[in-house]
Amino acid sequence: MADCIFCKIIDGEISASIVYSDDRVVAFNDVNPQAPVHVIIVPRQHIPTVADLGPETSGLMDSLTQTANRIAQERGIASRGYRLVVNCNAEAGQSVYHLHLHLLGGRPMTWPPG
Ligand code: 5GP
Ligand code: ZN
Repeated sequence: MADCIFCKIIDGEISASIVYSDDRVVAFNDVNPQAPVHVIIVPRQHIPTVADLGPETSGLMDSLTQTANRIAQERGIASRGYRLVVNCNAEAGQSVYHLHLHLLGGRPMTWPPG
């Protein structure tokens, strides 16, 4: 997808600190981390928002979530606790319109979220 920053990261046109990659999923460190661990997990397929998922993308969120869980284990935050966030559309704060999961951890988190 032209002009999508995450597609450019997936294609290697923009550099990022890639932490995981397979045929469906890519994960990289957030450029503006909000916690000691802040990893962005994206599907290779350009899907604008979580609301665009349907039967044809069945299993994709599982791949994203399982990748996040593995990275949480590797970073040593799995048992301490971590947060998975998907922002959908403007009022939720989505700024990049390529579906992504935020993996956040390494510090205590508050609730409700801002
Ligand atoms: P959103 O606000 O859409 O849920 O999250 C987008 C995230 O992508 C933000 O946390 C932002 O810091 C991150 N981000 C935006 N542009 C880039 C980039 O070029 N490289 C990396 N690594 N992260 C980015
Ligand atoms: Zn994209």
